[in-house]
Amino acid sequence: MADRIIRHSDLMKLVDEVARKRRIIGPVARSVPECEPPVRYFYEDVERADQLDLSFRYCVYSPKRFLTPPSETLFAFDQDDGGFVAAPQYDRRPTALVGVHPCDIHAIRLYDRVFDLEHRDEHYFARRGATMIIGMDCPGPCTDGVFCKDMGANVAEAGFDAMLYPLGTDTDGDEMRYAVMFGTKAGREWLLYSRQSAAPNADDERAFEKYQADKEAAFSFALRTRREDLAELLGRSYDSLLWDATARRCYSCGSCNLSCPTCYCFDITDETDLASGSGRRWREWDGCHLPEFALVAGDHNFRPKAASRLRHRIYRKAVWIQERSGVVGCVGCARCDRACTAKINSVEIYNQLAEEA
Ligand code: SF4
Ligand code: SF4
Repeated sequence: MADRIIRHSDLMKLVDEVARKRRIIGPVARSVPECEPPVRYFYEDVERADQLDLSFRYCVYSPKRFLTPPSETLFAFDQDDGGFVAAPQYDRRPTALVGVHPCDIHAIRLYDRVFDLEHRDEHYFARRGATMIIGMDCPGPCTDGVFCKDMGANVAEAGFDAMLYPLGTDTDGDEMRYAVMFGTKAGREWLLYSRQSAAPNADDERAFEKYQADKEAAFSFALRTRREDLAELLGRSYDSLLWDATARRCYSCGSCNLSCPTCYCFDITDETDLASGSGRRWREWDGCHLPEFALVAGDHNFRPKAASRLRHRIYRKAVWIQERSGVVGCVGCARCDRACTAKINSVEIYNQLAEEA
């Protein structure tokens, strides 16, 4: 059962109300004539709701950069009495991520888990704690090649403050109506406080049930192996010739890592002014496909070959992250596949391994 029903124009008014108190980030259409399709969607900062385009199918990148930026200062430091004094830098700007699809909500839930393993990442949680998530459900696959259903990520039942389900236009003709589910008290208060929404009536409930049935039929499986069996499949595939054969095409560019909503590796650098002794520690995204990723002192590289780096990434996504965190390491969004100039494709890798096995 839906919690509320809201019309698009009322939703836009609500987002404008939120924008008075929070930074708003959501899908924005951009013309990119050299690409196919020539209009693409990106999560961006906006000042007003009418700058958002909630009819988007998918955003090229996930909203991860707003929770863990590509580059950020962790703390500044100064010398003091022979030691150092650190001043951590946290970003606690109140923020609302609007229009987050279920796959990206699953990816954020993964971050919530891994950034709290052993050493809690206070910089991540400063942003996360200040961020409200207003999800947008997908009525069907957003584009070819996704395998979110295989990874259990085409539906989100938690990880949002409120989730919107686009039911279609209303009986008057041209305005989208959304069913809304609350995920948290903050989401409930946001919607109920302003009285822009209504309780669902019997017709709304039928429309919501139909929406869910149509959605179930619209998604199909792409993998020949169940998600639960991927670990066993990969356990038998470590020495497969497929890694070398596929990696011959790999440019080691790292685009698959950087576009992935569940990749979270970073590199740390200290910068010190030798005269004053003051400086800063900062981090930036790293990627396990980059040749220097596993390079250590003495010029030793644990994964010098592209094949070993490709295998490492696939094992992390399908096995190791889940073993360590309990959360599946890939949400099947296929951004890595779309970003890859060499057309290396995760679904093909899993399915070829299944065929070999
Ligand atoms: S995007 Fe493709 S070519 Fe680039 S590192 Fe990843 S697999 Fe290799
Ligand atoms: S590995 Fe590829 S399909 Fe899986 S979450 Fe990352 S970008 Fe999406």
